[in-house]
Amino acid sequence: MGIPSLDGDHHVHSTFSDDAVSPPVDNLAAAVRAGLTTVRMVDHVRTTTTYVPDFLSVVRGLGRREGLAVLTGVEAKILDASGAVDAPPEVLAAVGGPHGVDRVLLADHQFPGTDGPWSPRATSERIAAGLAPADALEMLVTATVRAMRAVGRAQLAHPFSLLPKIGLTEDDISDDLLDELAAVAVETGTLVEVNEKWQCPGPRVRDRWAAAGVALVAASDAHVASDVGRYPWLATVKR
Ligand SMILES: [Zn+2]
Ligand SMILES: [Zn+2]
Repeated sequence: MGIPSLDGDHHVHSTFSDDAVSPPVDNLAAAVRAGLTTVRMVDHVRTTTTYVPDFLSVVRGLGRREGLAVLTGVEAKILDASGAVDAPPEVLAAVGGPHGVDRVLLADHQFPGTDGPWSPRATSERIAAGLAPADALEMLVTATVRAMRAVGRAQLAHPFSLLPKIGLTEDDISDDLLDELAAVAVETGTLVEVNEKWQCPGPRVRDRWAAAGVALVAASDAHVASDVGRYPWLATVKR
């Protein structure tokens, strides 16, 4: 339980992300070589990003491969406690439609604070200054739930990868908060990653969410084609 199928890779970056090195055509070839049945091509966006139409036309122009579903997405951070998402409004409006990406990957790259994103360091400082970890975690989960509802077709990218950066662990999250997030993920059809690069979430969270019916998906978070569909960590946790 709590281990997704390793036949898919739901989080692969291309040169449309400024920190990745392989073009979509190379990622597609790597997915074929790895024997995947699903690959989701996804790149980083902010509200000011303009490349999404080009990205979609390149990915759609790759052509079909027998037995391989090619899906698309954009990865955006959750900006604040209201669940606002750092993606262009027209991209969010088009999600799931004929001219849009299939899903929005919601990322905890920064802490969704009351007045906008808090860096991990600023979040740690607030915790040191008296923000209770339980309250911080409730803020994080509440913002995530709001973003999931607002986006409609979401995928949680590397859930809780932020916690070690702010001096917390998944053990600090209550079962109630995990269950709240799971219920909304199921209700909204949100996919939830088990992320190879960030090695999260851990077994307690995965098993609890899987038991709640959450759809877990494998994600390499590859930034180079040779990492597409490669799961050295996930393979060791597979039971
Ligand atoms: Zn990310
Ligand atoms: Zn990513």
